[in-house]
Amino acid sequence: LKAKNSLAIKAAFVYNKQIMKSGFFIGIDLGGTNLKLALIDAKFRIKQRRLFNTRGFPDKSSLIRNIVLEVRQLMKDNRLTRKDILGVGMGLPGPVDYERGIVHFLPNIPGWEEVSLKSILEKRLGLPVVLDNDAKLMSLAEYTLGAARGARSAVCLTLGTGVGAGLVFDGRLYRGAGNVSGEIGHLPLNEDGPRCNCGGWACLEAYIGNRSIESRARTILGKNISLEELSRLASRGNRLALQVWSEVGSRLGLALAAVVNLLNPDCIVIGGGIAKAHRRLFERLKEVIAQRAMSVPAGQVKIFKAKLASDAGMIGAAILVKEAQR
Ligand SMILES: [Zn+2]
Repeated sequence: LKAKNSLAIKAAFVYNKQIMKSGFFIGIDLGGTNLKLALIDAKFRIKQRRLFNTRGFPDKSSLIRNIVLEVRQLMKDNRLTRKDILGVGMGLPGPVDYERGIVHFLPNIPGWEEVSLKSILEKRLGLPVVLDNDAKLMSLAEYTLGAARGARSAVCLTLGTGVGAGLVFDGRLYRGAGNVSGEIGHLPLNEDGPRCNCGGWACLEAYIGNRSIESRARTILGKNISLEELSRLASRGNRLALQVWSEVGSRLGLALAAVVNLLNPDCIVIGGGIAKAHRRLFERLKEVIAQRAMSVPAGQVKIFKAKLASDAGMIGAAILVKEAQR
């Protein structure tokens, strides 16, 4: 019995040591609406999460102060010390200088211009911090654990107020010259057209960003209507609501036909709030890809809906920490 006990104790010790050795990540996802933080284990499973309304913070410094407090709280709640944390990863809704850890600006959160967020957080937390654009992190998560798992090349889209994408080829994020690849929302669709938030015009986002869809729906249906309600109306067979989703699908399909011809990806993953839209959008977008992209790449591309929902950003942030330490 004694020998058995000591074996069990030994096994428990080895097990604990493995947990200690594998460590944890902190994943943070800052969006225009929500600030999300999570403690994530070495297998990218979320252990504990915290959620805040981004608009609840009057300014940048109170938001940063809250992030620092909440990271410490997550560690305290789980009796972890700095040694147990492999690093902190954070996604932001705008262009980020990945190499230097600087946030250039956030179109939907005022007051963030050229912020050296990596060094601010590292100083206050005493932990390694990596930052990246949220669409890139969502793509990394969907590629590693979600809808694009097993694919070689994937283009992952986030459709919401902003329209962005991340490109993953052979297991690596494609960042471009200055880490601003994937801005599919600003792919020009026409020579002339509506103004866009980026300062340009006739961009994809100016047609299929949430606000543009709402305004189109207002014009066609003659009243203010939320996107959820627009999908419900479409489900009940409302012709005008179906028309709006069909138009969104056509525009997105055109942009994706260009992506398919240029990159010949294995798959395209569609995430963000619009992924929950009425199926007419997806039917139309597949039709347009089939009609407008070249037959070989159009026949090879698979279109998936994102799988990891609103956790993708935090999980991708953890994956990024691991990648950065390789
Ligand atoms: Zn634009």
